[in-house]
Order: sequence, then C-alpha cells, then structure tokens
Amino acid sequence: MTVYSHSRISTFEKCKMKFKFKYIDKLEPEIKATVEMFMGSRVHDALERLYKDLKHQKKPTKMELINFLENEWKKQWDDDILIVRKEYTQQNYLDMAKKFVSEYYDYYEPFDQATTIGTEIHIQIKLDKEGKYLVQGYIDRLDSKRDVYEIHDYKTASNLPLQEYLDDDRQLALYAIAIKEQYREAKDVKLVWHFLAFNKELHSERTDEELQKLKEETIKIIQEIEACKEFPLKVSPLCNWCEYKPICPEWKHLYEIETKDVPEDDDGVKLVDEYAKFKSEEADIQRRIEDLRDRIIAFAEKEGVNAVFGTEQRAKIWSKEVHKFPKTTDYNYQDFVDMVKKLGLWNEFSRIDSFKLEKSFENKEFHGEIQELLRKFAKKEKIERVYLGKK
Ligand code: SF4
Repeated sequence: MTVYSHSRISTFEKCKMKFKFKYIDKLEPEIKATVEMFMGSRVHDALERLYKDLKHQKKPTKMELINFLENEWKKQWDDDILIVRKEYTQQNYLDMAKKFVSEYYDYYEPFDQATTIGTEIHIQIKLDKEGKYLVQGYIDRLDSKRDVYEIHDYKTASNLPLQEYLDDDRQLALYAIAIKEQYREAKDVKLVWHFLAFNKELHSERTDEELQKLKEETIKIIQEIEACKEFPLKVSPLCNWCEYKPICPEWKHLYEIETKDVPEDDDGVKLVDEYAKFKSEEADIQRRIEDLRDRIIAFAEKEGVNAVFGTEQRAKIWSKEVHKFPKTTDYNYQDFVDMVKKLGLWNEFSRIDSFKLEKSFENKEFHGEIQELLRKFAKKEKIERVYLGKK
C-alpha cells in the first residue's frame, strides 16, 4: 500500500509528468537540488540543532549556531547544486541563511515561549477508518503550552503568503489530524509558520469539521492519483526549479544544445531558425500584400475604373454591398436566434459549433451517458501545430 505525503500529492496537482518521473518511474534526477532547497535544509538543520540543544539544557550562542550552519553548508555543498537566478552566488544564499537564523535567534531568545516536545517528528495520518489511505510527514517542531499544541513549520521562501492561503494549507492541517489523535488531551492545535525571510510568525487553526472535510478531500485526490492513466506535463514558472527539467520533453532539447560547443550546428536549431526566418518574412509579406491591395482599390476609385493593369497581370476590383446578421458576440444575437426559431428556419440555417462541442467533449464536461453517446461520432485525430515564441 502506498503511503502518501503532502509533497507527493502536491507534485501530482502541479505537474502529472513530474509525478510520474519521481514516484512511478522513480527516476534519479540529473539536478540533485536547487540552491533554495539546499538553503532550506541547512536552515532547518540549524534550528533543529538549536531546539535539540535546548532540550538538553544547553543553550548555544548565536555565534555557535551560525558557525554550525556555515560548517554544515561547506560540508554538504556540491557544485552540481543548481542556482537558477544567475545574478546571485552561493555566498548570497549562505548569507541569507545566516541572516534568517540570526534574526530568529534574536527574536525568540531565551526560547521560553513553550515546551518543545520534539523536532523532525515523523507522523502518520489515517484518513479512513480501515487505514486504506495513509499520509505521512515530518513536523519541523512540535511545542505545547499545557493542553494547547503548536505545529511549527520553517519557511525560507521569498514570498509571504496571504492569510487565506494559510487557512487553506493542507500540509500542516494534515499534521493537526495526527496530533489530535495522538495527544488526546490536546484542547487546541495551532498551526504556526515561521517565514524566516520576513522574521514573521503566521498562524492558523482548523475546526474538527474542517479536518474531517480535509480527510475526505485528500482521499478523493488519492483516488484520482490511483486511477490516473495519463500524465501530461504542465509548464509553469516552477519548471525552473524542477529537478527533471533536463529530461522533460518540454526542455530536453534546450539542455542538449546548451551542452554543445556550437549549438548553431544542431539540426533542430537550424530547422527552427529557418522556420522563424520564413515566418517573419511571411508576416512581412502579408502586411505588404494588404497595403498594396488597399492602394490598388484607392487607385481604382480615384481613376473611376474596375480593373487596374500591370505588365503581365490585371487586378480586378470586385465589390458588393451585402447584409450581415448578428454574430454571437452582438448584443441582439439572442433576439435574432429567437426570431429565426419562431420562423421555423433554425434547423435549416443553424450549424453545430463543432469547435465548442469538441472542447467540451475533450474536457469531459458532459454527463457520463451523453459523453458516451457523443463518443460514437467522435473520430480521434492527431493535431500537430508549431508555435513560435521567445526561448
Ligand atoms: S520541467 Fe515543468 S513540465 Fe517538465 S516535468 Fe518538470 S514541472 Fe513538469
């Protein structure tokens, strides 16, 4: 039986292909870690060390803690760690980590806000009575103030989320389910996030009803994961931090040409460059054709002629005044449709919006039976297009 984790579930939600690489194919990623992941781990190590020492009645000085962080950083740093934002160096990230820990120390010293029950606590959550759906995780720090328990989570991200995002956060809420079950005397379980880049502590809580709803929603997502047969990729800014980017079909070619001495010699590069060149010429030619067309019409009007003659060809000007009926976007479209129906002309003159129908069918927007009936008429075809865009 698979034991899920918050990160396993959220990977599925963010990009199904990454989920497949990581959890189904279990591929070893080429990118071992990003600098942000590495920095987060080292800051977590330092704060874990702090609370472990405090539990043993030893209070490290701020300098000792910073030195510990720096030593661990140097010991564990690997030159393969990816720095996405090329304008910053490893040293910048180390300095950030030191600043986070230093400010945290100054703010909470003498660390007597609560009793620490443990750090990096492994928990397992049973989502259903039978224990068919299990989720596990690690709590950065669990504190208690008598019968009030606090789940603490350290964040090193550079963005400060809105309160509504935290009130909707799944990870710590799942942990709250486990704590409520394991510590029966817990009257309240508070969720506490430390956004270290802002030296801020943010809070949220969940009612028992909300936790029950969360269990049901999480089971639904797990069922969706287990029934999933197709794993399409989803391009987003998160791709820049994805450890599978070098093998992802969306980015693989870019990685290949970046490792070549002369990327311009690559067949793919040559094809795209030539295609882009012709497409740009095509757009320019189209503009020039339209401009000439307008000038020929203007010339014909000025000269009072219906045809303008070139050396080999003639340009015949054709014009006619026609009546146009309202389009779907026009304000009176619905009135027009009602009238056409009333006149009994609808069947003869209306057409099915195949594009809209195909889109709704693809998105499975129809009720099961309707979808199946439509399927009988749907022919599967492969559509291939080439879109040009900035690299
Ligand atoms: S690079 Fe982006 S699209 Fe590709 S697997 Fe990773 S997250 Fe998904």
